[in-house]
Amino acid sequence: MTNIKSIAIDGPVASGKTTVGRIVARRLGFRFLDTGLMYRAVTWVALQRDIGLEDGDTLAAMAEGLTMDLVPGSGDDRLLADGEDVTEHLRDPKVDAGVSFVSRVSGVRTVLVKGQREMAERDDFVMVGRDIGTVVLPNARLKVYLGASVDLRARRRHHEISKEAGEALPYEQVLADLTRRDRIDSERADSPLRAAPDAIRVETDDLDIEGVVERILAMVE
Ligand code: C5P
Repeated sequence: MTNIKSIAIDGPVASGKTTVGRIVARRLGFRFLDTGLMYRAVTWVALQRDIGLEDGDTLAAMAEGLTMDLVPGSGDDRLLADGEDVTEHLRDPKVDAGVSFVSRVSGVRTVLVKGQREMAERDDFVMVGRDIGTVVLPNARLKVYLGASVDLRARRRHHEISKEAGEALPYEQVLADLTRRDRIDSERADSPLRAAPDAIRVETDDLDIEGVVERILAMVE
């Protein structure tokens, strides 16, 4: 079913998965997929089409009919939804606020997980998300669960948002949003955020990016 060479990295908001995963993929010559972007794209398109984020059936039908293409670029990959480049909208605050409601919908998850598994059957991937080790690639060659204290993660996210948006949101608000998203992701019935029983946990509070990358590469070897 799954490609056993691929590597699964899971963890909560701002645990460093994307930054670390992208570097690990480059070093190994693997492709990289940030699965969060797919849930964000479904959320953005739903908002554009005025679909209520509590309307699971319509969301699932919409996700089923949506074509998503990941186009590697010189910087971040671009995500095309039905041919339209939606990359720059994926970190919109409205998407941040809504995405955990969309990702609770089993019908949406079924569609996206199927696409993710198909990609891993064609190529070797470093795939990052919330359910990669538990659901998407249960036979992954290596499963890593990245953790960091909530305060450190909120500070990282606060820094990122200030850089992206050019304006500072209050730290307290970033902390509250992050805690709320982690809670919804951890408490949902379908594929909650969890470390797989065979995942190796890496706590990143005292490590820089290179330190985490080195640790993962050492495990691969
Ligand atoms: O990783 P990122 O923060 O961009 O993910 C956005 C949201 O997408 C998460 O908060 C979660 O609700 C959902 N997600 C998920 N399963 C994944 C990846 C992301 O449910 N594999």
